[in-house]
Formats: sequence, C-alpha cells, structure tokens
Amino acid sequence: MALGLDTVGRKLLWSIALPGLFAALLGVGYFWREAQQAARDATHDEAMVLAEFVGTTFRLPTPEGMPPHTPVAELLRSDVRMLRATAELNVLSPDGRIRWSPRPEDVGRRHPEADRLTASSTQWARSDTHSTEVLRPLGEKACEGCHAGAQERPVGLLHLRVAEPEVHRELADALGGALVAVLVLGSMLIVATGTSLHFFLTRPLRRLTAAMRGAEEGDFLVRAEVHGTDEISRLAAAFNAMLARITSMKAEEIDTHRDLQVTKWKLSLKEELEERIAELALLFDVARSVNSTIELSELLSRVTQLVPERLHIPDFSIMLLNSDGLLEVKSSFPADPQHEGMTFQLGEGAAGRAAEMQRVVYVPDIKDPSSSFARHGLPPGNDSGALLSIPMVHTDSVLGVLNFRRPEVASFAPEELELLTAVADQAATAVKNAMLHAEAVKLTMTDPLTGVPNRRHLFARLELEVARSQRFGTPLSILMVDIDHFKRLNDTAGHRAGDESLRRVCDVLRARVRKVDTLARYGGEEFMLVLSNVSKEDAYEVAEKLRRAVVDAPQLAAPTQPFGHITVSIGVATYPLDANTQDTLVDCADSALYASKRAGRNRVTSYEPGMEQHPGRERGLSRPNDPASPSVAKA
Ligand code: GH3
Ligand code: MG
Ligand code: MG
Repeated sequence: MALGLDTVGRKLLWSIALPGLFAALLGVGYFWREAQQAARDATHDEAMVLAEFVGTTFRLPTPEGMPPHTPVAELLRSDVRMLRATAELNVLSPDGRIRWSPRPEDVGRRHPEADRLTASSTQWARSDTHSTEVLRPLGEKACEGCHAGAQERPVGLLHLRVAEPEVHRELADALGGALVAVLVLGSMLIVATGTSLHFFLTRPLRRLTAAMRGAEEGDFLVRAEVHGTDEISRLAAAFNAMLARITSMKAEEIDTHRDLQVTKWKLSLKEELEERIAELALLFDVARSVNSTIELSELLSRVTQLVPERLHIPDFSIMLLNSDGLLEVKSSFPADPQHEGMTFQLGEGAAGRAAEMQRVVYVPDIKDPSSSFARHGLPPGNDSGALLSIPMVHTDSVLGVLNFRRPEVASFAPEELELLTAVADQAATAVKNAMLHAEAVKLTMTDPLTGVPNRRHLFARLELEVARSQRFGTPLSILMVDIDHFKRLNDTAGHRAGDESLRRVCDVLRARVRKVDTLARYGGEEFMLVLSNVSKEDAYEVAEKLRRAVVDAPQLAAPTQPFGHITVSIGVATYPLDANTQDTLVDCADSALYASKRAGRNRVTSYEPGMEQHPGRERGLSRPNDPASPSVAKA
C-alpha cells in the first residue's frame, strides 16, 4: 500500500497519526522519567529502612547458646525477598574487615573499599542512577553488654547497597509493555483511521474526481455518486446539478454551433457561387469577345488583349500549329515583335510538351532545376515565376497553345487552372471557327485548278491597288496573260492535259513574281498580274521575263502547238498613264493583249492609245470569261 501524501485521506491520516504517536511516546517518556525517579526514591527509602531494620535488629539479644547476632543473620537469610534487591550487605569492623556477610566466604576479608568506608563514622546514604549505598555505624548503649565502649564509638559499620529494586524492573517491564501497547494501539488507530478516511473521504473524493475528469474530457453525461448527506455527497450533488446545467448549455451550444456551421456552409456556398458566377461571366465575356469575330488575326489580338485585362495575367502568348507542324508564336502580351514568329517543335519547352501531350503543363517555379525545360524559348528577364501552358484542343487535334506567366512563383491557383482551361477551350473553338472561315474565304477567293486567286479576288485586289495608287500617286501596272492556241491543245491532247498545262503555266508564272504582286486567274486560259508601284517600262520587262520563262520551261513543251511549245501573249497597261479607272485599265491591257495576238502571238505589247479593242469582249468588269460562268465567251 502506497503511503504517499497524494490523497486527502493520507494527509489527514498522517497529520493525526504522527502527532498522536509523538504524544504517546512523549507520555511514555514522561511516565518513564517519573517512574525512574519514584524507583530511585523507593530504592533510597528501601535502603534506609533496611539499614535501620538491620541496625536495630543487631541490638536484639542473642538467645543463650547461640553465636552473637544469630537472629539478624537468620532473619536476613530467611527473608530472601528483602535481600533480592540488595546487591551488597556487609558488617565491617572499624578497621574495614568483613565481620558478617550473606556470603560466608567473604567473612574475615578486608573490604576492597575499606578505606573509603571507614573514613566516616557517621551514617550516610548515597544514591546514583542504579543503586543506593548506605553506611550506618553500629554500636550504642545496647551493645555495651558485649562490646565495651560501644557507647562512645561504633563497634562496626553496616554497609549495604540496594541496586535496581524489583519495582524498577517491573516498571521497565511495564514501560516496555506500555510502549508495545502504544505502538499496537497506534497502529490499530492508524489502520482504523486510514480505513475510515479511505471509505468516507478518499474513495468518495476519488469517484467525484473521476466524474469531474470525465466532464473535463467532454463527457457531460457522466454523474458523480451521491450517498448520504455528508459534505462530499453534497459536493457531488452540487457537481451533478452543475453538470446538468452545463449539459443543457452544451446542447444549446451544439445547436448554435450547428446553426453556425450551416450558416458558414451557406456563406461559403454563396461565395463559391459568386466566384463561379464571376468565372462564368468572365467565360461568357471571353466567349462573346472571341466569337464576335471570325477573322483569325482579329481573334488572336482580342484574346491577347483580354487575358491581361480580365484575368490579370501580365505575360501571355498564343501559339498556333503552323502548316509545318511547328508551334508558332502568333501574338503576345506585352507585344514583342522578336518573340512573335518564333517556332517550337512539339515536345520542346512547356508549350511544346503541352501540345504534344494535349495536357496542361504547369510549372510553379521556372527557376526550379527540375523545370529547366520550361525556360526554353523564354526571353531573358521573363524566365522566372510561374508558367502555365494550356493546349487548345479541338476534336482531339491540337490547334495551338496558350501560355500564361506570372512573375510570382506558384501564383496559379487550382481553380484558376480550371478557368484558364475553359478559356483555352473557348479560344480553341473560336480559333477553329476562324480557321474554317479563313479556309472557306480562301476557297471562295481561290481558283481551284491553279490555286491562285480567282477573278473575284483579283478585282477586289485591283480595286484596292487602284485606290492606293491614286492616294500615293504611284504607278500601277497590270499584265494580261493569255495562252496561245490553247483550244488546239485541248482539242488534240484533251481537256485533262489542257488542265495540266494550265497548272504548269501558272506555276511558271507564280515562281517568277514578287510576293507583293498578285497573280490571279482572270478566266479561261487567261491570267492577270497586278504589279503594285511598277512603271510601264518595268512592267514590260516583267512581262517579257514571264513570256521567256514560259517558252524556256521544259515542262511546257507541246508538239501540238505551233511553236512546239506552249507560249503566252501578254498585254501591258499602266495606271494612270493609260487609264484612269479600273475598268478602262483592264480594257487597255486587253487591247494590248489583242495586239500581241494579232502580231503573231508569243509576244508582249504595251498599250498605246488608239489600239483596237479585243473583238467580242464586253468592256470592263462584266466580261463573262470566267470558267465558272456558264456564258464563257470565246475570244
Ligand atoms: P488564242 O491564241 O487566240 O488565244 O487561241 P485560243 O485557242 O487559246 O483561244 P480561244 O479563246 O479560241 O480558246 C480558248 C480555249 O481555252 C477554249 C476553252 O475550251 C479553253 N479553256 C478555257 N478554260 C479552260 C479550262 O479550264 N481547261 C481547259 N482544259 N481548257 C479551257
Ligand atoms: Mg483566251
Ligand atoms: Mg488563248
């Protein structure tokens, strides 16, 4: 059993038991001291009485025929009890010789302390801790009969020592017993007190404490045991009442907490909804903006403008997959002409990886050594922060990649990634539509046989060039090119061979014109070349060069033709030198062409005023010589 001071019961027990034990021991000690003193006094008294008794009895007359002092000697021998406490009893002669002793062998010897004892002739008694020593002179008037001069001087000395009388021993025994009794009683008292304290104090308190600890740990349904009406029971009852109150408060708190949680949930839902609405609004804006144009370049510039404005992303670029299968930077913010036009292989850099895997590539820290691939292609100064490349995918094919960069590391939140992916999807749809539109426009403006612009495109272009020439005062020359005797080729080699020859002539011409010039199929086997900012003389040179190129082209050898080779005739006219309207300019070129034909074909003629007009042709733009037209006029 632990005897520490960790319970109130034990504290009380020790606070009662220790002083009690101490008081008991103190009492026993006091009793022992008093008993010792009483024993000493009793020893003293006993020694004095014994000395008096023996001294008095010595004087008694000795019966006839017996040795002197026989009665006292007999008496002393017979009364064993009287001598039991007597350590020493001697009758000494005045010179210190033992005259009488209970031990007959000592009689006649000189006492070892004879000098000390015979030094005084008066009675004395000395007590020390263990004994009382008495010296009594013997010899009085009564002794005169046997001892002459006994009246004047002692005839002997009675010396006795009473040591540790029986009462003393009994007292010691009693004290031992008392001590044992005190210890036994003390132990019993401790056990009884301890048990009482355990049952009436420690255990109820422990149970109450356990209940309190349960409540402290959150179990508000726990209750303390209440037995009787003592203080602890009343404390337990009060605690139970308090707990009941807390339980109801807790229930209210739980309700309040639940209400709070619901409110918080609703609030977060509302915030989330607001965020979603904002995102949807943004997406709607993006969709509306990108879908409001069908022109690819316009679309790209709108997206490039929207991203920093609405999405607050300061660095952005759009790449589109070009005809070579490379990602080409089409637009960027801030605008960077050096960056635009750059190309990346699939798998190259973050954008290349995004396009190759058709997955979002997010690099939270471009400087991270494990993300070195993401630094590829980034202009110096822009190669830090976070980079996000999202592919624009339409029906499983990649159209391009949107690249977003922020200078702060890990600055794209997961929700933002979702939003930007949705933006990329929108952009992908818009880009696809714009591409389809561009394709459709190209188709309507292109001659399907030769791949060069058709008559519709030609006249639109011509209109623009005339207007520009007018505004800037620069010359504009046109060449009208007609294949010689093409009908013959058709008739002899067939239309398919005719078509092929038409394509080859077109290829030869196309290979020799500048990018700024427009080569278009005018109609039938006729082409027109619009030469911007080219004088009549230079135009003639160009025309001559083209004519020769056709003549020299080995792939245009044709035995059916008069020259054994396909040839072309060309008419040249210049604005504003020959004509001041688009229609008249075309008529002039036509007249010049007719002049070439009349002059024998395979030649170039510049328009000159008064030239005969091509017979059978209507003037101006309404000339129905388009192969697409049902009324193709034959020259
Ligand atoms: P000229 O030297 O006077 O120009 O003689 P030509 O035979 O070339 O001229 P003409 O106007 O008599 O005939 C033009 C021919 O070109 C008639 C037509 O069948 C042919 N032609 C026009 N468009 C096409 C075409 O798209 N394909 C083919 N195979 N032939 C075409
Ligand atoms: Mg013709
Ligand atoms: Mg012809």
